[in-house]
Amino acid sequence: MSARLRPAGLAAALILAAASSSMAQQMGTAPRVVPRFRVRPVLPLDDIRFLTADRLGGRLTGSPGADTAAAYLARRFRAVGLQPAAGGWFQQFTVARDAPVARHANVAGLTGRNVIGLLPGRDPVLRHEAVIVGAHYDHLGLGGFGSLDPDSTGAVHNGADDNASGAAMLIQIAERLAATPPARTVVFIAFSGEELGLLGSAHYVKQPIYPLSTTVAMLNLDMVGRLRQKRLIVYGAQTAKEFPALLDSLNWHAGLDLKAQGDGYGPSDQSSFYAAGRPVLHFFTDLHEDYHRTTDDWQKINVEGLERVAGFVTGAVTALGNRPGPLTPVTAAPRLPSLGASAGPGYGAYLGTVPDMTDNPGGVRLLGVRAGSPAERAGLRGDDVITRIGELRVPDLQAMTAALRSHQPGDTVSIVVRRGADTTTVRATLGTRGG
Ligand SMILES: [Zn+2]
Repeated sequence: MSARLRPAGLAAALILAAASSSMAQQMGTAPRVVPRFRVRPVLPLDDIRFLTADRLGGRLTGSPGADTAAAYLARRFRAVGLQPAAGGWFQQFTVARDAPVARHANVAGLTGRNVIGLLPGRDPVLRHEAVIVGAHYDHLGLGGFGSLDPDSTGAVHNGADDNASGAAMLIQIAERLAATPPARTVVFIAFSGEELGLLGSAHYVKQPIYPLSTTVAMLNLDMVGRLRQKRLIVYGAQTAKEFPALLDSLNWHAGLDLKAQGDGYGPSDQSSFYAAGRPVLHFFTDLHEDYHRTTDDWQKINVEGLERVAGFVTGAVTALGNRPGPLTPVTAAPRLPSLGASAGPGYGAYLGTVPDMTDNPGGVRLLGVRAGSPAERAGLRGDDVITRIGELRVPDLQAMTAALRSHQPGDTVSIVVRRGADTTTVRATLGTRGG
């Protein structure tokens, strides 16, 4: 528990003090009032530190650590004023034996748990409609499968930004909205199974608490703890006609450097809802060098930034929860066939590049390639800028991750690179992660 307290008053801390006169007398000093313990609100960083403690083991879906995280989140949901659904706080699903990931991650047959809390709407009619706010809480466990650092297998991957940050923000938003609930019901969902291929959100879409036809929108928080230069990316801005203007007007006061763009397909839980025809937004404070590595730790979270983004998203939920009519969805053909909710993404194939996270010259610049990797065999090398993999443009690392996820190990793909003044194409036969 953090020893740091917010200024009294701001946080309305309840301070219980007790006189410790007998001890003072024994020590021969004058009796004085000593605060014995303090009850104060739980701060976002407390939630993140709980979820990223080593004893939770990296929160791999189906593991005891993930169950501890789920129980904690349910307690926090209740503490900030949410209610359980008719079936309780947990929505369980089983990782299918034939799930694309089950072979690699040893999770077939295990039980994942979505944690669901409701904030009933205050309008007697509109309360039967819903706005969903979601964030996955599972992570990569002890690495190996899914880790971008093949040498770290066996080390706990704590996943502070990915995605304890989103889970903590979920609670922040719930707490703020509970004070003045919007007209529609807000459904808060902490998803499991995201890292294994959006399993928890795919399950919810099949068994929603409120019908999807009356679910106005789904807002996803995934990696929201590293706000830098006020830059907030919002994917899915093109999934409802009303979104661009709404985001603009919210940002009039928030003053963020907002990058609102794109359709609703991306490598996180919003894809499950977009595939089901719902407008979606994915809030994201961008990739960094600790992504899917053991160094994604709580000390690197920008707490002020997290609270700032929480305020922005709270405004969006309020606006969506109170607007008189539904949104006008804009659907698109799936960009990545494998990201459909039913198919589930393959975990993806291994290329073995070391991307330069600080430079984004309209592609992914490489610092180097791993020895013996498919990238090395294909002739890729440091300073190459990858701009295309197979059918997909690769403007940034997230797109590259998505491109690799759309392929299976053993696929041979053409890779377009900028090398100095030239553009060249190489062919690489993709491998298996860690293999
Ligand atoms: Zn992740």
